[in-house]
Amino acid sequence: MPAGRHFLQIPGPTNVPDRVLRAIDRPTIDHRGPEFEQLGKDVLAGMKRVFRTQHPVVIYPASGTGAWEAALVNTLSPGDRVLMAETGHFASLWNKLATKLGLVVDFIPGDWRRGAVAADIRSRLEADKGHAIKAVCVVHNETSTGAVTRVPLVRKAIDEARHPALLLVDTISSLASIDYRHDEWGVDVTVGGSQKGLMLPPGLSFNALSPKALEAAKHAKLPRSYWDWTEMLGPNAKGFFPYTPATNLLYGLREAIAMLEDEGYDNVFSRHDRHAEATRRAAAAWDLEVLCAVPEEYSSSLTALLMPAGHDADRLRAAILGRFDMSLGMGLGRLSGKVFRIGHLGDFNDLTLMGTLAGVEMGLVLAGVPHRKGGAQAAMDYLASAEAANAGVRRAA
Ligand SMILES: *Cc1c(COP(=O)(O)O)cnc(C)c1O
Repeated sequence: MPAGRHFLQIPGPTNVPDRVLRAIDRPTIDHRGPEFEQLGKDVLAGMKRVFRTQHPVVIYPASGTGAWEAALVNTLSPGDRVLMAETGHFASLWNKLATKLGLVVDFIPGDWRRGAVAADIRSRLEADKGHAIKAVCVVHNETSTGAVTRVPLVRKAIDEARHPALLLVDTISSLASIDYRHDEWGVDVTVGGSQKGLMLPPGLSFNALSPKALEAAKHAKLPRSYWDWTEMLGPNAKGFFPYTPATNLLYGLREAIAMLEDEGYDNVFSRHDRHAEATRRAAAAWDLEVLCAVPEEYSSSLTALLMPAGHDADRLRAAILGRFDMSLGMGLGRLSGKVFRIGHLGDFNDLTLMGTLAGVEMGLVLAGVPHRKGGAQAAMDYLASAEAANAGVRRAA
């Protein structure tokens, strides 16, 4: 094992902070006993604040994919049409999952370089006079590309089309890193996961609900048992779960929420914005292109960079892992070998970013990838500037 900490700079799972590790490191307790009740109540209430909702949040002992399935099987019936947008690999996987469940997916094609286009969603819904489409599903932060879908614009598109479809949003790699508002943005089901912005190990995932989603669940006919919201919500009201919860991850979750609230959500979001901006400045100095082509949609939790033609991203990543013990995200699906992704989310500060960018810059040299020097310097210049110091003040104003 190399000395020092491994740099886990993939866009999830992310580095687990010591406070969370310490919180998890406890004996497991009786999940039906009195001591559990407080833990259950704390995390269920805390997750409502994280999602910015007054309505119930369901916590599953599952990876994010489980919560994707839960969102669909609780609200929809076999043969229902759903509208999805091809923003990248994760949107494509959600499409595949929905199709396997017996839903009929209208997949709006995309070039994997931007978020879902609200105008496209609006025109599809306007053309659907019979309201056959029962749900619109979008990925807030497309982790394969580093492009954000502007959810309020999608909400507006649905409203302007006067269409009753539910709005389902995947926030697995944006929750607690990028500003997100379940109630204010009129989302019906928000899907989240533990191992990205929430700084926990993998193993928990979430559905935040709306009253409209709960109403849809009464009539939805897709088969469900383990994922059934109604089975959860009864015991959850008293702080308990219908089956064995991931108790130790819930200890970690309580601590992670406390950390986020000690720092303050606005500060957490502006910290992520600042690190994303510093990363893009490094990329510009290196003369490497950011995959996301729409500046308003740049992700603050990760940045995907395109390799120069004829150079393989996986060779670069392997060189960086071998020499500097840092993991970077691979290109997924059709982007395999063409991009590498820098995760700058979760338990992360200015100097973690500088270690990360220094590792990338040295790796570019080692792997013989054509670039200009000075990316790490450009990031340092930005981080040390008044502009970066004011990034938080701007948001708070
Ligand atoms: C990580 C991720 C997923 C998949 O979650 P798992 O926990 O691997 O099942 C889905 N969507 C997005 C946007 C993700 O980043």
